Amino acid sequence: PPLYKQRYQFVKDLVEKYKPKKVADLGCADCSLLWMLKFCSCIEVLAGLDICANVMKERMHTLSPLPVDYLQPSERSLTVTLHHGSVAHKDPCMLGFDLVTCIELIEHLEESELKKFPEVVFGFMAPSIVVISTPNSEFNCLLPQVMLYRHPDHKFEWSQAEFQSWALETARCYDYSVEFTGVGHPPTGMEKVGFCTQIGVFFRKYPQTGESVQSEKPMEAVYKTVFKAVY
Ligand code: SAM
Repeated sequence: PPLYKQRYQFVKDLVEKYKPKKVADLGCADCSLLWMLKFCSCIEVLAGLDICANVMKERMHTLSPLPVDYLQPSERSLTVTLHHGSVAHKDPCMLGFDLVTCIELIEHLEESELKKFPEVVFGFMAPSIVVISTPNSEFNCLLPQVMLYRHPDHKFEWSQAEFQSWALETARCYDYSVEFTGVGHPPTGMEKVGFCTQIGVFFRKYPQTGESVQSEKPMEAVYKTVFKAVY
């Protein structure tokens, strides 16, 4: 399967393993991953965030309930919301999540946004699990026609060592552990270049409930809600 599907499947497998009830997808773009996740029966709250409202709106109708959802309502409740805003800003609507996914997001962040990102995701949102994927620049020698970066909007592409040192430092700062993996295997004999997409899975070391954080930090909303569906 194409690489993006392998990334989505990786997240789906993680959801099936850890059974989070509340999942937020940061940089959700056209909501493809959210659409896949709405079929995971453990999830009761799904939220998407993107800085580009237009790309979110393209296919957000696919997140609306279908006639069958009304005719055969399921036991679980599911609420899906989409927010317009930046991962560089904190908003109380992002509190209380169990799993936060950032798939191919960080390489699109400006330096100033990337600096604020760990404090927003790990410090403020502080979910029990965070998944971050990003291109592995060492794999680029195996890709035809890659000039500098795989995509013109990429602000950087990191080697395995660069991603791992950023991830380890972030994990240390916010009291998480991190495990490295990826999708898109290198060809036999070239294992050293690593996965095409590198992935860090972060686990919060300390126990905490979103609700307790929320009451401690009353604050203003900065994101704009652009979609909401209740199943
Ligand atoms: N996660 C999706 C996937 O894997 O298919 C889309 C990845 S796309 C390459 C990166 C997305 O991040 C874009 O939709 C872009 O608008 C969004 N983005 C870029 N900067 C952002 C920011 N500061 N806050 C939130 N989203 C941002």
